[in-house]
Amino acid sequence: MWWKVLFLLFGVAGIIADVSARIDEQMPPWMDSVDDDYYNSLSYLSYFSDGISYRLPNTTVPISYDIWISTDIHRGEFGFDGEVTVRFECIETTPELILQYRAMTIDTVALFDENNSLIEEDVSWYQNETVEFLIITPSQQLIQGQEYLVNVKYNGSIRDDGLGIYSASYITPEGERRWLASTQFQATDARRAFPCYDEPLYRTRFNISIRHHSNYTALSNMNAVEVVPEPESDYVLTKFAETLKIQSYLVAFTVSDFISTDNLTAVPPQRVFGKSASIRNGEGEMALETSIRQMKIMEEYFGIDYRFPKMDHFACPNFSFVGMENSGLVLYDELFLLWDPVSDRTSDRDNVITLIAHELIHQWFGNLVSPVFWNYLWINEGFAALYEFYIPHMMYPEARYMDFFIIKYMHVALKNDGNLNIRAMTHYVENPDQIEALADGVAYDKAGSVLHMMQNALGHETWRRGLQYFLNARQDNYTNSAFLYAGIQLAVSEDIKNNTPDVHAIMSTWELQAGVPIVTVSRSGDVLNLQQTRFFYSNQSRASLWQIPINYVVRSNPNFNETTPDLWFAGKELEIRNGTAPKPWMPNDWIVVNVQQSGYYRVNYDTELWSLLIEQLNSPEYHLIHLLNRGQLIDDSFNIARSGRITPDIPLDVMNYLERETDHIPWDSAQRALFLYNRWLLGTPVYDEFQDYVLKNVAAMYNKLGVNVIENEPRLDRYARQIAINLACLHGSAQCLDDTAEQLENFFNLQKTLHPDVVAQIYCNGIRRSGADVVEKMQNLLLKAKRQIERDRIIAGLGCIEDPDILYEHLLMAIQPGELSSAERSNVLTLPLDNGIASLRALMNFIRSNYGGINLVSADLVSTLCSNIAIRISTKEMYDTFVKLLSHLKINGAISASKETKLQPYAKGILNWQEKHMEHVVLFFEKKTNVREPFSN
Ligand SMILES: [Zn+2]
Repeated sequence: MWWKVLFLLFGVAGIIADVSARIDEQMPPWMDSVDDDYYNSLSYLSYFSDGISYRLPNTTVPISYDIWISTDIHRGEFGFDGEVTVRFECIETTPELILQYRAMTIDTVALFDENNSLIEEDVSWYQNETVEFLIITPSQQLIQGQEYLVNVKYNGSIRDDGLGIYSASYITPEGERRWLASTQFQATDARRAFPCYDEPLYRTRFNISIRHHSNYTALSNMNAVEVVPEPESDYVLTKFAETLKIQSYLVAFTVSDFISTDNLTAVPPQRVFGKSASIRNGEGEMALETSIRQMKIMEEYFGIDYRFPKMDHFACPNFSFVGMENSGLVLYDELFLLWDPVSDRTSDRDNVITLIAHELIHQWFGNLVSPVFWNYLWINEGFAALYEFYIPHMMYPEARYMDFFIIKYMHVALKNDGNLNIRAMTHYVENPDQIEALADGVAYDKAGSVLHMMQNALGHETWRRGLQYFLNARQDNYTNSAFLYAGIQLAVSEDIKNNTPDVHAIMSTWELQAGVPIVTVSRSGDVLNLQQTRFFYSNQSRASLWQIPINYVVRSNPNFNETTPDLWFAGKELEIRNGTAPKPWMPNDWIVVNVQQSGYYRVNYDTELWSLLIEQLNSPEYHLIHLLNRGQLIDDSFNIARSGRITPDIPLDVMNYLERETDHIPWDSAQRALFLYNRWLLGTPVYDEFQDYVLKNVAAMYNKLGVNVIENEPRLDRYARQIAINLACLHGSAQCLDDTAEQLENFFNLQKTLHPDVVAQIYCNGIRRSGADVVEKMQNLLLKAKRQIERDRIIAGLGCIEDPDILYEHLLMAIQPGELSSAERSNVLTLPLDNGIASLRALMNFIRSNYGGINLVSADLVSTLCSNIAIRISTKEMYDTFVKLLSHLKINGAISASKETKLQPYAKGILNWQEKHMEHVVLFFEKKTNVREPFSN
């Protein structure tokens, strides 16, 4: 119905324009050209999936909040009492005040004038549960231009799912369970803790007081100014200083018995809070030092100081998110904040370093400048994703954190963006569930990758100054993407005088279109032809075009240092003539497009160009091609083959060069490709040749790195070693199996400790061909292990048992009485899935005989296991066994008839792939004469 749609559209634009006029600061003149409404009116229509508006009306705005919360969490009590007083201004005369709330019981509502004199004691109100409105209807209208205070007394519950105010607990070394309360409000859960204006546009001052037991400490965004003992009770009231203006989703508090390690002379003072045993063990020190260094780097980089008077980091057990950037009080899952140099891995340390950088970047992107609404969440998360690697790169340039960004974020984003139903970066939704769903790979991985591309295309210094212009202009205010582009444009126009890029026009193609382009490069003599289209894995096409920064390198001039564009490619097709080309080529030159894979796009080549690249890679001079481009060639060729544009022997030919490669980055791309080839070829006539191919390629890296961690080796070698051990042992290297089995034996028999960076690899590969006695030792180790991370590693290790009879015995652990949690029991059953054909058969046998016990572990676990097996069926014989299994399970009521019908064709996926592509793979292996296992001793 057109009127409703138009009304909604107007409603959205109207809210932003009017309320922002109220709260806007003076904008610098260059911001005048930024057109809010252009963005706010773009293609919103199709996103109103339920036709309901969940947005607050534009009649009142908040000025400040006084919040009082009382909790008995020290006793494990899960109710709380609350009282909130909101001072607000009426900007349009209205009969009602609307606040957002969720799942709380309202006791009383009272209304006061701006001088705190009572207007009405018992104001009537009602709720609209669908849109989560608390609608307060005083007997007289609220008058435009007047300020009021509304007081609401209410109570709610402390939840156990990590949303709103939630509880967590831990066991002290003395075996006592302790409870604590903490908060998580992004995106729409502040309204679970107090009725409020729960949209990111509203920035308000908060005065918070928490009543709690005197043995506990309360923390919040600001410092406590007073802890007032309650007469004749064990309770105190902790009162916090008034916050700067913040959004409701950034309010936070905790009530716990945690202690801290502090640096109070740092500016701002910083503290890391955690369980007393962990903090006394020094596990907070690395985080504290890292955060202080990073804060300084960021303040200098952005040219704006952090505003809050302190920064606390709080390590919560079982935090349901990894980290949350509340102003002045960042919350983390403790596994990602605390670090023990004795028992934790290099990757745990990297997680701490990158996560702190991520949350601190939000103090600028998200907190200082906030998205006008959640459709621009990608501005928060894209910058946080990029700089969580860029800041560590500035701290430790030799550690190559930005290389990590390419494999951790860009390769993942490229993969997700090949899906048909992926969304665009800016995507407007209002329903709270849909808002939560925006925190996805598009907001993080893709937005970070697109920003990384622009940083490289425009030049790092220009980019940085553009961000400074933007942050300065919009600080303490809201933003949309247009403001961001205007800030960057200012710096770009100052620095690039010829063919000045139009940031808004370029970025719009990336921001507003879903998916990712693939550029196809073909050459005919003196003409290079480029074509762009949207990349899909399936057989689809869409008329999308992007403005793509193209840069390339040719063999006769192999300089991979420059990542600024040679040209911008905006049309469907482009011809470059050798005579006028930015980089001319010789007749037999290979060409690499997308230098250092700084651009967010895939590149395909014609057959001859692929051959020339493969020839270069498979030569001693393979390193003439930059290592990031070696990784790119693997990732692109593999994924382009998956899309059916090239045959699957091309990626196998590309990866054939890996026999010379020992760097982690290309290997990280390769292991993902080899993992899937392994799945597709398992049990087929070429599987032995495939195993030989992997062993031939991994030998050099394995021989170089071995199974022993070396002190002070490059950080990335720690990761490369894990790949080398896993691939070599999985594909049957006797050397690797001996080395790892020996390490495991020494661990059990001589109590030799295993380095945390190889524990998981030794547990898994050392046990592959071990006997039942070693398996029993591992199982006993599991029963004694206390730390969850260690228990998970042991269960994963046990999933690698290769002997089907021993494995079958081990699987019984999942259904027999014992001390395993249900998550651990289902891990016992799912971890052998990728461990070869014998393990899959053993698992199918096990399910056939034990479906009743398995479904007792968790409802539908049999069904989940069957779905997982279905996508691993790679031979006709396995398919037949699987179909019989499904029928047996259905007859016995262990799975539904509809599940059986759904899974049967699903299990043919790999067989269908083989039918189409196998001849190319067979030909590839016929051409190669692989030497079996050239491992040194
Ligand atoms: Zn974030």
